[in-house]
Amino acid sequence: MIEVEAYRRVADRAVGRTITEVVAPDDWYLKGGTTALALRGAATGRTVAGSRRIGKLLLLDTDGPTLGLRFGMTGRLLVDGTGPIEKLEYSSGRDDPSWVRFTLRFVCGGDLQVVDPRRLGGVLLDPGLGHLGPDALALRPAQLRDALLASRAPLKAWLLDQGRVAGIGNLLADEILWRAGLDPVRSARSLDPDEAKALHRHLRRTIRLLTTRGGSHTGDLQVARVRGATCPKDGTPLLRRAIGGRTTYSCPLHQR
Ligand SMILES: [Zn+2]
Repeated sequence: MIEVEAYRRVADRAVGRTITEVVAPDDWYLKGGTTALALRGAATGRTVAGSRRIGKLLLLDTDGPTLGLRFGMTGRLLVDGTGPIEKLEYSSGRDDPSWVRFTLRFVCGGDLQVVDPRRLGGVLLDPGLGHLGPDALALRPAQLRDALLASRAPLKAWLLDQGRVAGIGNLLADEILWRAGLDPVRSARSLDPDEAKALHRHLRRTIRLLTTRGGSHTGDLQVARVRGATCPKDGTPLLRRAIGGRTTYSCPLHQR
């Protein structure tokens, strides 16, 4: 979500501009049953009204349809050829023209492009949002606590479940739990009120901090995401486990 929030700000540069052409050359990249023809028909001649973010989904509102943009791990958003200054961990920074999966051209020149070497993102037309939970930064402490109480899932899997809380990816989840001192395999409902409060506090702080630093790969635990590494806090050898299908690093000493 940290990267997507940066793209949301980039997308704001397109607000007020009218779309003259929609270029969607890669059918694989069009999700939710939409087609290049449908996108062209719906968006051409429309004016970009604003941008929103829910979790990892960027929404581009127009005076007609809303376009949903997903970036996966390698997607980037450019407006008039430039994006956020930070370079993503997984991208090389060198663009091949064939990586441009989606382009909106504007009436007075300039364009908005999604560049994605690995095609893990996608474009949606009027995406349904019912499957997304509240954005992680919008959650109030009581909401978080109620949502935790409703689930037996391991904390790590719970944080990654976009239907419960939208916007938290693998690296960010590990960093939050490491900072909060919570064991990723504990069931969500096992947190006592103080632990739930601590999770809420560290969730917000961690997102803000890593946003300032430039991405979800800038956490303190990141350097320790290799076999045999030790906890940057206390030097204990870290655990490496698969939880909820994702590689998870945690400290057996201070995460309980
Ligand atoms: Zn530790």
